[in-house]
Amino acid sequence: MARLLIVSNRMPVTIFKENGNYNFQQSAGGLATGLKSFLKHQEKLPDFKLEYLWVGWPGITVNDKKEADVLKKRLHKLNYWPVFLSETEMENFYHGFCNRTIWPLFHYFTSYVEYEKDFWLDFKKVNRIFSEALLEIIREDDTIWIHDYHLMLLPQLIRERFPKVRIGFFLHIPFPTFEIFRLLPGEWRQEILCGILGSDLIGFHTNDYTQYFLRCALRILGLEHDMGRIMLEDRLVQVETFPMGIDFQSFYESAKGALVKKERARLKKEFKKTKTILSIDRLDYSKGILNRLQGFELFLEQNPDWREKTQLVMVVVPSRAGVTHYLRTKKQIDETVGKINGKYATLTWTPILYQFRSLAFPSLVALYSQCQVALVTPLRDGMNLVAKEYVASKSADAGVLILSEKAGAAEELGEAIVINPFYIEEIAAAIKEALEIPQDEQLKRLKAMQGRLRRYDIFRWAKDFLLHLNLIKETQKKVVTRILDGYRESLLVHYRKAKKRLIYLDYDGTLVPIVKHYSQAAPDQEILKLLKNLSARQNNQLVIVTGRDRKTISDWIKVENCSFIAEHGAWIKERNNDWVQTKTLDAEWKGQILSILDTYSDRLPGSFIEEKEFSLTWHFRNADPELGMLRAKELMDYLISFTANKDLQVLQGKKVVEIRNAGINKGLAAAHWLAKKEFDFILAAGDDWTDEDLFKVLPETAYSIKVGISSSLARFNVINYKEIRKLLEEFDKK
Ligand code: UDP
Repeated sequence: MARLLIVSNRMPVTIFKENGNYNFQQSAGGLATGLKSFLKHQEKLPDFKLEYLWVGWPGITVNDKKEADVLKKRLHKLNYWPVFLSETEMENFYHGFCNRTIWPLFHYFTSYVEYEKDFWLDFKKVNRIFSEALLEIIREDDTIWIHDYHLMLLPQLIRERFPKVRIGFFLHIPFPTFEIFRLLPGEWRQEILCGILGSDLIGFHTNDYTQYFLRCALRILGLEHDMGRIMLEDRLVQVETFPMGIDFQSFYESAKGALVKKERARLKKEFKKTKTILSIDRLDYSKGILNRLQGFELFLEQNPDWREKTQLVMVVVPSRAGVTHYLRTKKQIDETVGKINGKYATLTWTPILYQFRSLAFPSLVALYSQCQVALVTPLRDGMNLVAKEYVASKSADAGVLILSEKAGAAEELGEAIVINPFYIEEIAAAIKEALEIPQDEQLKRLKAMQGRLRRYDIFRWAKDFLLHLNLIKETQKKVVTRILDGYRESLLVHYRKAKKRLIYLDYDGTLVPIVKHYSQAAPDQEILKLLKNLSARQNNQLVIVTGRDRKTISDWIKVENCSFIAEHGAWIKERNNDWVQTKTLDAEWKGQILSILDTYSDRLPGSFIEEKEFSLTWHFRNADPELGMLRAKELMDYLISFTANKDLQVLQGKKVVEIRNAGINKGLAAAHWLAKKEFDFILAAGDDWTDEDLFKVLPETAYSIKVGISSSLARFNVINYKEIRKLLEEFDKK
C-alpha cells in the first residue's frame, strides 16, 4: 500500500511527564485535528487508502537515550515517529527563528523581527535533524507531505538524498510580498526558497500567497513560471492554491447534538438577554485583539442604546508563553479589557466577558452556535479557521460573521461583513450593522458560505493536494521519458558502428554554461580537449553551430578539421576552408535598429547590445527580471511593426531579443552538410530556440538532443551542458 509520511514541527500527540511517568495527550490546533480526521476518514474510502506515519517533535526533551527509545517504540505503535530535540535547539529554532523571525516577518510585523545568526544556524540544524530522522524511514515510493514554516528547508534536504521521491509542501501562514520577504538577509532568503523548491508541489492558502511566492522565486532566484509551473534543472515544480477547509460536518452536526445543547442552555443563562459577540483566538499580536477591543469600545461610545443589550465574549487561548511580544500583548489586552469594563459596566451588566484559557470541543461549538455575532479581526492571518468553524456551527440558528480582509479565509467568505481591521471606525460600524441585520438575510448569507465550506472541507483539501501531487509526478514522468538516459547505450552502439558521423553542436548553453556577459564564455581546457579528440577522428565531421560572430567562435575554438556555422547561419566555414556567406545579405538596416536598441538599453539598467555583421542582439539577462520581460515584450512589439516592410526577422530567445536578416537560420546552413548524404550517424545538440530550426531539418534517424527539459522538436532531452560533455567523453573512449 502507498505510504504517506506527514511531517510537521509538532506531532499530533504531546508527551508530558507526570509523577515520573510519560503520558500522551492529543495536541490541539487546526492542522493536527484536521489532518487526523482526514486520515481517519480516508481509511473508509475504497479508492484512496494510505498507510501513514506522522513525523514530528513530541513536545518534550528527553535526555536519557533509553527512555527516548522506549517512548519511540510506544509511539511507533500509534503510527508516530518522534524527532527528539535538545532544549537549546528548540529554543533557538522554535522560539527563536520560527517565532521571532519568520512568524512576525510573514505576518508583516517587521519591527518585531529578530535577525539572529544563531537562530538561523539552529533553524538549519533542526531541519537537518528532521531530514536525518526521515532518511531512516523513507522508501522511494513514499509520499512525503511537509507542513509549515518550521520546515522550509526540509524538502531540498530530502531531495538531495532521494531525487525521485514524491514531496509536497504546504505553508499554513501567509507568504509575504517580495518587499517584505527580502528583509531577510540574502543567504537566508535564497536558502529558504531553494529549500521549499525541493518539493514537487507547493501549496498555499490563497492565490495572493501563491503569486507572492512565485514573484520571490523570479526576483530572487531568476526562476520564471508558466501557470505556476517552475522548470528547475532537474524537475518540474507546481505552485498552487489550496484553501484549507475544516471538518464541516463535525461542527455542523455537533452544534445540534445533546452535549452542545446542554452547554448552550448554561450559556444562555449566563448571557441573560444580551446579544453576544464572540471573539476567540490564540494569544497573538497578529490576531488584532486590541483593535477589536478598541472597535467594541467605540461602538459602545457611539451607540448608547446598545449598552446593556450586548456583550463581547472574549476567549484568548494561551500561546507561546515567554516570547516578549506575546507577554506585552497579553498585558495590553488585560489592561484594555479592565479599562472598558471599568468605564461601562453597571451593577447588572459587564460589557466584556473575558477568559484566558483553552476550551474543550463541546464548549467551543456551544459558543459558536450560541453567539449572534463572531468578530474575527486579524491584522494578518494565513487562513483563520475560527471564522470557518463559526459559520459551520450555525446549523440551528442565525448569526453574522465580521471578518478581516487580511485573513486568508476572506477569499472564500465573501458574504461576511468584511472589514479592514486597522480602521477602528470600520470595526465599530460593522458591529452595529451585524447586530441589526434581519434574520432572513443572516440565514441567506450563512447558507451560501456553508455550501462552500461543506464542499471544500478538510477531506477535499487534503485529497486535492495529494491528487495534485500525483498529477505533477505524472507530468514530470512525461518529461523524463524523453531524457536521453534510457537511450544512451543504443546511441553509443550506433556511434561505434557508424562509418561516417556528422555531429552538430551548439556552443553557448550546450558546450559551456550560460554566463552573465556574452564575452565571458570562452571555452575551458576540458571542452577544447574533447572537441580536439573528436575532430581528430577521420570519420567524424564536427560542426559548431552558433549565433555568435565568426571571429569570436573561430578564435575561441582552434580545433583542426572542425567546421562552423556562425551568426545563426549567415556564415559557414567548411573544415580547413575560409568563411563563406550563405546568402547575400544587407546590413544597412542596422543603424536604425541600433538607435532603437540604444534607447532600450538606456532605459533598462544591466541590458546591453551585441553587434554582429548581420544581426543585432539585445541582452537583458543581467537586468531586473520583471522589468526585463516587460521591456522585451514592448521592444518586440515595436520592432515587429517597425520592420514589417523589411526583410528582417525579430526573435525573442533566452533573455535576448535578436534582429537579423530573414532567410537565414541554423537549419538552412546545416543543410549544406546534410545534402552530402554521406553520413550514417547524425547528432545535433542545442539549448535554444534557434536550435529548433536545426532539429527541424534533420532526418528521422538522427539523434537530436535538447539541452534543458523544456519542450522541443528534439527527440531527447538532457539536463544541462555537463551531460553533453559526458556524452562527448564517451564518444572519445570508443
Ligand atoms: N481552538 C482550540 N481550542 C480553543 C480555541 C480554539 O483548539 O480553546 C482551535 C480552533 O477550533 C481552531 C484553531 O484553534 O481550529 C485556531 O485556528 P486559527 O486558524 O483560527 O488560528 P491559529 O491559531 O492557527 O493561528
